[in-house]
Amino acid sequence: SKVPPIILNNGVEMPQLGFGVWQVPDDEAQQAVATALEAGYRSIDTAAIYGNEEGTGKAITSSGIPREDVFVTTKLWNGDQGYDATLRAFDTSLEKLGLDYVDLYLIHWPLPARDKYVDTYKAFEKLHADGRARAIGVSNFYPEHLERLIAETSVIPAVNQIELHPHLQQHASREFHAEQGIATEAWSPLGQGKGLLEVPAIVAIAQKHGRTPAQVVLRWHLQLGNVVIPKSVTPSRIKENIQVFDFSLDTEDLAAISALNEDRRIGPDPKTFDIG
Ligand code: NAD
Repeated sequence: SKVPPIILNNGVEMPQLGFGVWQVPDDEAQQAVATALEAGYRSIDTAAIYGNEEGTGKAITSSGIPREDVFVTTKLWNGDQGYDATLRAFDTSLEKLGLDYVDLYLIHWPLPARDKYVDTYKAFEKLHADGRARAIGVSNFYPEHLERLIAETSVIPAVNQIELHPHLQQHASREFHAEQGIATEAWSPLGQGKGLLEVPAIVAIAQKHGRTPAQVVLRWHLQLGNVVIPKSVTPSRIKENIQVFDFSLDTEDLAAISALNEDRRIGPDPKTFDIG
């Protein structure tokens, strides 16, 4: 299946659905990413801290798919924030990936108590100006962090990648991103598969369409306009998760899923998260 792109605020096209590789060990990442590329995925989401940039990069460079047809995202880890450290960490990531540019580089967490994300982002602007990151953005930023970044730097982030699924719908962030032209990318779009895929309302919608709960949840994200990066190492699920462009949810289905919001996080709160 061909995944339609969204157009980022700098004109770069990003597939609306990609493959996430968090918690995939480096020696399994090559196989998992190769399976995803064979299934039609053309966007891969990794991060320095995932420890699998090498396996991910090998799968991409040995796939035979032209480099320009794959959208590669990686992220700067927390301990590398700051202008100079960021430039060094970016070089290390590119080297591990075996690539000479990435499509999207993200600040992994804002770490507001450290107060380094503005300087870090200025290094991102240099990487972008040098053509080594086709787009730059952030992850886990609240609107207040984005507001400060926008006030003190020149390139509006293309993307904010945040925890987002039917139990945590992030209305305030989504509205702010839409006003600013920032794409909302959902991490843990399936709620990590825990519980969410057994919620009766979702199971009922899946039965109605002859689909799986995972496909229904991904479809809900896509129809809302979110970018999604579901993760799996199981080939059948990798394929299932991209087979979501040949059906639609109706307004009643969308409303039933939107009624499941509980503002409930699985991951840490970015206002206080401060490790690494
Ligand atoms: P996810 O919501 O994608 O869920 C993945 C889990 O759901 C799998 O491990 C599996 O157990 C289950 N699953 C997947 N497909 C399924 C299917 N078809 N049927 C049934 N169960 C299925 O969770 P995730 O991995 O946390 O998030 C996706 C990606 O988001 C990550 O791999 C990573 O790339 C990114 N991420 C980013 C951050 C961040 O701080 N920026 C944090 C977490 C994750």
